[in-house]
Amino acid sequence: MKTHIEGGWVVAFNGTTHEVHEPGSVVFENDRIVHAGPPYTGAADARIAARGKLVSPGFINTHVHTAGSGGDYLLLDMAKNDYRTANYMSFAAPLKGKMAPPPPAAVAALRAFVFLHALKNGTTTVIDVGGLRGDWDGYARLVDDLGVRVYGGPPFRDRDTYMDAQGRLTYDEDTAVGRERLKEAVGFVKSYDGSAQGRLRGMLNAAQVETCTEPLLRAGKDAARELDVPIHTHAGGNLVEFQRIMDEYRRTPIRFLGDIGFLDERTLLGHAVFTTAHPWSHYPFGDDVRVLAESGATIGHCPYKYAKMAMTLHSFQRCLDAGVTIAIGTDTYPMDMVSELRWASILAKVADGNYQAGQPRDVFNAATLGGCRFLGRDDLGRLAPGAKADILLIDLDHLGVGVVNDPIKALVDAGSGRDVSTVIVDGKVLVEDKRLARIDENEVLAKAREATRGYWRAVPAWRWDGAEVDRIMPPAFPLHRRKEETR
Ligand SMILES: [Zn+2]
Repeated sequence: MKTHIEGGWVVAFNGTTHEVHEPGSVVFENDRIVHAGPPYTGAADARIAARGKLVSPGFINTHVHTAGSGGDYLLLDMAKNDYRTANYMSFAAPLKGKMAPPPPAAVAALRAFVFLHALKNGTTTVIDVGGLRGDWDGYARLVDDLGVRVYGGPPFRDRDTYMDAQGRLTYDEDTAVGRERLKEAVGFVKSYDGSAQGRLRGMLNAAQVETCTEPLLRAGKDAARELDVPIHTHAGGNLVEFQRIMDEYRRTPIRFLGDIGFLDERTLLGHAVFTTAHPWSHYPFGDDVRVLAESGATIGHCPYKYAKMAMTLHSFQRCLDAGVTIAIGTDTYPMDMVSELRWASILAKVADGNYQAGQPRDVFNAATLGGCRFLGRDDLGRLAPGAKADILLIDLDHLGVGVVNDPIKALVDAGSGRDVSTVIVDGKVLVEDKRLARIDENEVLAKAREATRGYWRAVPAWRWDGAEVDRIMPPAFPLHRRKEETR
């Protein structure tokens, strides 16, 4: 079956760069694009009108946690009121033995919510860098049922983090547990890579650079090479981690990973904010940006999440100019890839005090082509004959956006994930007229809400100081809730 997307601004890839055709056409047959560029005059079985829309390659979101942006992220991002314990450590580490795993129904509800929320906001390839564990058959079935494209694998580490009764972060090392978890991850890849009609692909996730011992990081990278899959870890994500790696190895996290052979073209690093280039590191020895450029590793840049914590990459432009591959992820909530383009662009300017930095072209490239290198895919992130039919129609023809001259600049300046009107993955229309085509989205949201409230209710039981959610994250104004809305 051949479908013709007709009209609109078509972002086609010419083999070297994206270029825009106004009006243009995209034609796909089953899961592959057969034409992208100028208006198409041949026959087709179906037609999608794209007038007033940007017809764009779907975005590759390099940082999604299927754990629970329902409620988890809302807490995490707001609870970071101490930069030394900034990022996940300060909040998510429980009292040992006090955090019960969420019920299976909640796990399933949050996974579905995360996939579909990301999809509606422009993500067509989800890189799941670690979520709730268990029921991997259910995970694969969900990817199959929803129609999304996912790279994932159970995260592994051999140092779990806990708070003691005084709220001090502790690391609990157990190398045997780490080896078991790596084995589980390898088993996941062997069982599920290529399932869901090829839309679920395996990858390895070494949880965080400082929660994995050096032998586990090496073993993880060796396994990734053997399986020929990408590997991710969080590195340069917070100053606690930076300092711990400095203490343990007398090197920065980036330099350490480079020295042990962890970094190459199949490696994705979440964040890489704290490098020798970041002013807060106060470590002017060596050049982490050069290490990243020479290794071929990709930075998974999550601009909005870090901006919430008053931090950013130093810097998008300098990394780009040095030859580092940069991709874009959301990590936080909302998972709005269109807004991330704007955050990436603006923060690049602010970080360098340079209004020429963070050009719309460069942030758009990062969210599309930038995500393809570590995946080893030349059929994603672009609209060209032979590429996968992962396509967005984004409505730019409305008062909220205004008058459009260059649609990519308009998208970066004024677009939102809520302007995404059609999402096609693997040639299947999953979102149509801004609504999910396969599934009742109100039901998805209702289940996610229930799972999130359950999660919030459980917080005082495992939190070191017994605090309830509203104490950790006070509402903006005194909030008088109706009884049934009380958590
Ligand atoms: Zn993360």
